[in-house]
Amino acid sequence: MPYSYDDQNIFAKILRGEIPNDTVLETDHTLAFRDIEPQAPVHVLVIPKGPYVSYDHFAAEASDAEIIDYTRAIAKICAQEGISLDDNPGFRMISNAGAHGVQEVPHLHVHLLGGRRMGRMVQPA
Ligand code: 5GP
Repeated sequence: MPYSYDDQNIFAKILRGEIPNDTVLETDHTLAFRDIEPQAPVHVLVIPKGPYVSYDHFAAEASDAEIIDYTRAIAKICAQEGISLDDNPGFRMISNAGAHGVQEVPHLHVHLLGGRRMGRMVQPA
């Protein structure tokens, strides 16, 4: 089944500037901003600017430039937020996809969570 992208999702609206956000980093192909309902002292959402619904969609169809930009942006944010292993005990990175992943917003986002010890990786459904 082809990937289908709904451009009315909330992150598409953030990218178009229709909804404000607390930006942490912006690059050519990537935007990172603070989650509106943070689950940890650091909770940043990292999204590509392109119309990708999930990580597998992005990994399959994004250009090399987009993938490199997105990956390097994650490293920059970890350093900027002080959650990199360089100076902190670590962080958790999550990307939910689809119904089984319990994805709420259908635009690829990685959650970067840090600043406290996380709980179990997966809770019972
Ligand atoms: P998902 O469940 O899709 O992996 O995560 C969606 C995340 O987006 C949630 O953590 C939620 O708090 C966050 N979120 C939803 N709407 C907004 C919004 O308008 N602004 C920001 N900054 N975060 C949002």
